[in-house]
Amino acid sequence: SALVDLRGLEKVYTTRTGDVHALSDVDLQIEEGEFLAIVGPSGCGKTTLLKILAGLEEHSRGSAAIGGHPIAAGNGDVGMVFQKATLLPWRDILSNVLLPLSLRRRPTAADRQKALDLLRMTGLDEFSGKRPHELSGGMQQRAAICRALVHDPSLLLMDEPFGALDAMTRDILNVEVNRIWRETGTTAVLITHSISEAVFLAERVIVMSPRPGRIVDEIEIPFGKER
Ligand code: ADP
Ligand code: ADP
Repeated sequence: SALVDLRGLEKVYTTRTGDVHALSDVDLQIEEGEFLAIVGPSGCGKTTLLKILAGLEEHSRGSAAIGGHPIAAGNGDVGMVFQKATLLPWRDILSNVLLPLSLRRRPTAADRQKALDLLRMTGLDEFSGKRPHELSGGMQQRAAICRALVHDPSLLLMDEPFGALDAMTRDILNVEVNRIWRETGTTAVLITHSISEAVFLAERVIVMSPRPGRIVDEIEIPFGKER
């Protein structure tokens, strides 16, 4: 059975000026280990969908489950990467990467090793003791990916992770993400405005359309994705 199972999902935001129908009739299954990309114009509900998967936003109707369990606030076993790396400026890179774990418990030696392994995988091992401002934008975003993966989430969610970077850095990071996905076997969901990025990274691309936000097309990208 699928890792992620969304059925008849609806999302309505209630605002002072009326209801906003952000998602309608979303049926989506994501297999364990799959890489899924979501594309579509601004306002089609991409971020809302990702927030529901992360347990950051409640849905209005339908069902949403990860690993057979209904998604509820706080139980989200997910790692998230946003457009901005949002690293804590006064902490070094290693402790930023460890943050999802240190919020729950005192990190163990094994936790530190896991963080250092991720930093090595992304070429940041020499920067573990540096502060975020000492790293380039691309390196900070790599650190944010390490932070999202340090607690072995069942799902890696990325919301336009490289949208703020220059084209060359973006291309390099796309190659990195592809390698990380193959090496970790993680299930990944990526929001992007770039069709070429979606086709390069994902095995399946869903296309959304606004007013109300819904899935209007689905494209399989089978080539070149073997692990
Ligand atoms: P994007 O298109 O990249 O998702 P937006 O500008 O649409 O960015 O949204 C940025 C943030 O503002 C999101 O977190 C979204 O949930 C929130 N947002 C968008 N529209 C509204 C709104 N009408 N009222 C309150 N918050 C909103
Ligand atoms: P996308 O990420 O594709 O740009 P969003 O999920 O941000 O789309 O937004 C989908 C719709 O829901 C838009 O009409 C947006 O204005 C609205 N919206 C998003 N967040 C909020 C919010 N917190 N409150 C009210 N409306 C919102």
